[in-house]
Amino acid sequence: MLSDTHTHTYYSPDSKSDPEDNIKKAIENGQKYIAITDHFDHGMKCGKSDYNFDTKKRNAEFDRLKDRYEGKITIITGIETGQQPLRDVKLSNAGKLTEYDFDYVIGSTHVIDGLDPYEKVWFEGKDMNAAYKRLLETLIANALFWDNYDTVGHFDYTTRYAPYENRILRFKDFPELIDEFLKIIISKDIALELNTKTATRVEPDADIWKRYKKLGGELVTIGSDAHKPEFVGLEFEKYAEFLKSCGFKYTFVYVNRKPVAESIG
Ligand SMILES: [Zn+2]
Ligand SMILES: [Zn+2]
Repeated sequence: MLSDTHTHTYYSPDSKSDPEDNIKKAIENGQKYIAITDHFDHGMKCGKSDYNFDTKKRNAEFDRLKDRYEGKITIITGIETGQQPLRDVKLSNAGKLTEYDFDYVIGSTHVIDGLDPYEKVWFEGKDMNAAYKRLLETLIANALFWDNYDTVGHFDYTTRYAPYENRILRFKDFPELIDEFLKIIISKDIALELNTKTATRVEPDADIWKRYKKLGGELVTIGSDAHKPEFVGLEFEKYAEFLKSCGFKYTFVYVNRKPVAESIG
């Protein structure tokens, strides 16, 4: 199975997973690597907890696990950073990234106009066209504003929680905005993530992925966004086939911030 580049553990405030259980599940799946990408989201709270973790404590635990599982799997010490086109968020993320040489940095748009679309109120007063237009404008703003990350996490995150009947984000509905977004990330060598947690709820639009390929996009990551160990590698066979059908031969994992190709087969 392709390696999972997006998983959470109890170092994320919205997960209770023991990192070792994620690792065991990844080994059971036959993955060569597993990236653990706990949340850092400036100013965001999960109940009373910040979307942040104690880097030293986490590293100490991961070092023990790296020793224990050496030769069985490579553990990638990653982080999922929340992006907003705001200076204080950028400074805060930059500060977090100085705490350690993370192997891998996901940049994710969770918050649009100060609110996470996970909160249903975000969609109030917006039809699907208005909501997705705002998503794409924010993705473009973030793509222009941000550097120092490796992949765009779940660009279609907003669709997960969208209250519309047919809620697939389609290339044909927003060709200019989607092109603009894709061209910026391609020019910056930032990868695009296929997030299977989103994909299993809202089917990805093949035309977006084919367009990314056509524009010269090669860097693709695949991640389950598992907040529970049983979801590590969620539906990877299905979405590996999907990527293949869109013209991709490889997905990438990042080690020391450098892409390493894995053949889709
Ligand atoms: Zn996320
Ligand atoms: Zn995540």
